[in-house]
Amino acid sequence: MNKPTVAIVGRPNVGKSTIFNRIVGERISIVEDVAGVTRDRIYSSADWLAHDFNLIDTGGIDISDEPFMEQIRLQAEIAIEEADVIIFLTNGRESVTDADEQVAKILYKTKKPVVLAVNKVDNPDMRDMIYDFYSLGFGDPYPVSGSHGLGLGDLLDAVAASFPEPGEELVEDDVIRFSLIGRPNVGKSSLVNALLGEDRVIVSEVAGTTTDAVDTSYEFEGQKYKIIDTAGMRKKGKVYENMEKYSVLRALKAIDRSDVVLIVLNGEEGIREQDKRIAGYAEDAGKGVMFVVNKWDAIEKDDKTMNKFNDDIRKNFLFLDYAPIAYVSAKTKQRVTTLFDQIKIISENHAMRIQSSVLNEVIEDAVARNPAPSDKGRRLRIYYATQVAVKPPVFVVFVNEPELMHFSYERFLQNRLRESFGFEGTPIRLITRARS
Ligand code: GDP
Ligand code: GDP
Repeated sequence: MNKPTVAIVGRPNVGKSTIFNRIVGERISIVEDVAGVTRDRIYSSADWLAHDFNLIDTGGIDISDEPFMEQIRLQAEIAIEEADVIIFLTNGRESVTDADEQVAKILYKTKKPVVLAVNKVDNPDMRDMIYDFYSLGFGDPYPVSGSHGLGLGDLLDAVAASFPEPGEELVEDDVIRFSLIGRPNVGKSSLVNALLGEDRVIVSEVAGTTTDAVDTSYEFEGQKYKIIDTAGMRKKGKVYENMEKYSVLRALKAIDRSDVVLIVLNGEEGIREQDKRIAGYAEDAGKGVMFVVNKWDAIEKDDKTMNKFNDDIRKNFLFLDYAPIAYVSAKTKQRVTTLFDQIKIISENHAMRIQSSVLNEVIEDAVARNPAPSDKGRRLRIYYATQVAVKPPVFVVFVNEPELMHFSYERFLQNRLRESFGFEGTPIRLITRARS
């Protein structure tokens, strides 16, 4: 669960995004199959042999209002802060430049492993180009070619060899991990403080894989919880911490490590475009989700206000129709503690496992009520269904001809599953396969 993070740094045009796309581009997994493409191309999960990791393209963090050298410096600092292993990318066709040396100087300061790669070594005859790069002081340079996909295996072997030992986090089955995401000023850090109010004992603040991601563990009514990346929410100061791309990166990392994600909205201001983007990340990640409308104290209310806000949320976040909505005030602490119960229920639904016999009864019953679609005389036949994964629940439905499964019928089956089993706050996925 706690995957290491790898960041690619280097001056512009050395090929960072090309390499990034090479490494993450060819991933196909059963979940991603249905979840659609990743929206944010500066951060993605990736895998190499038995290793799963997250990859950041720091070049995508655009710090455009800063001078050239300053941008490079900030990107390198972000890499140091966010990554467990850093790939320092250079361009073999141009030899070592001042900007490369600038990056090297910043990377000298970190104790994190740095693997040096020389890009644009497009064929074996060009391997001599790498020798200059020894002068950067990061040991053996790895020749790669982003455009031709060469050398990446050796590079990623070296990267994987530097991964930290998996932390204790891996075994904490009884802890519910959640994060709060939302645009600046919606009240995330105030909510964390309200959740952690003096009457609750804070068990410990534990550092995650990256030195800087501080999670807060505590117990409420016998249940252990962990708020992911409390430090990231609380501190604001460095130049880049206010940039949207950086906060998105931070949010994506927090979402990754969570079971349940609280999308915090500002009741005073209503829903903004940025809220929708942020909600999209939570949805794509397949996590448990709820909406928390904060600052409810600050608005004038009558008996229709809450319904109107409910309608707004449903209209703006169509695909999160399963996410419950809570109205709270971090300031007055109104209803803040009720969030715990909801988080717990969502986390249970997210991990729910349905027995095959029960599942198939529900499917049969659904088909009896609303016959499966047919096309040109051929009718879809559903043989049986089985749950293949939890967190989120994924169901595979075996049929005669998958092409006959319509989106609308799939939706109907999903709704029947929801009506029968609850699943409040969790996405569920349905995959249609031909019975072999
Ligand atoms: P970034 O600014 O570091 O993200 O660099 P890009 O990935 O945008 O690449 C900059 C340019 O270098 C583009 O025109 C790429 O097509 C080119 N490029 C990237 N990798 C290679 C490579 O392995 N060989 C060659 N010849 N060109 C490459
Ligand atoms: P963050 O950027 O999302 O972490 O937001 P903060 O927690 O820093 O809050 C931003 C501002 O909103 C601060 O001035 C808070 O005092 C204020 N704020 C936070 N929660 C509430 C609330 O429930 N009611 C009111 N009236 N103000 C709030």
